[in-house]
Amino acid sequence: MEISADKVVLIHYTLKDDAGGVIDSSAGGEPLAYIQGHGNLVSGLEKALEGKQDGSSIAVSVQPAEGYGEFDQALIQRVPKRSLQGSGEIKKGMQFQAQTADGMRLFTVTGVMGDMVTLDGNHPLAAKTLHFDVQVVSVRDATAEELEHGHVHGAGGHHH
Ligand code: ZN
Repeated sequence: MEISADKVVLIHYTLKDDAGGVIDSSAGGEPLAYIQGHGNLVSGLEKALEGKQDGSSIAVSVQPAEGYGEFDQALIQRVPKRSLQGSGEIKKGMQFQAQTADGMRLFTVTGVMGDMVTLDGNHPLAAKTLHFDVQVVSVRDATAEELEHGHVHGAGGHHH
């Protein structure tokens, strides 16, 4: 079956950076299950998979614009510790959800100086070219319930 909108697709993938270092991989684990056309994957990878068949393998390099975006200096913010109250001790590496003009975004604490905290709302993979090796394991129609929930049920997906 061919990958097109509303198909449930299982893939094995390895994601590498420009230097060939592995950032993420499903190798040795369960394949990743997603629904095509629902923004479950970065757009460049979804685009490259459109029309592929089960069993096929692709290698694709995704530019930041179709990956996790360009680095945005405006997403580096310094805020007083008290604005993050209720979180206990603030430490580097902690993450907070915050409302921005573009909706909810995950911020990572990148520094703590006295009463001020530096937050970075850029995705860790922002500005990076993503090199994917993908093997299409299987393709099937999504159920009505899966389309309603926007995620895959059963093997490789949510279990509920
Ligand atoms: Zn569900």
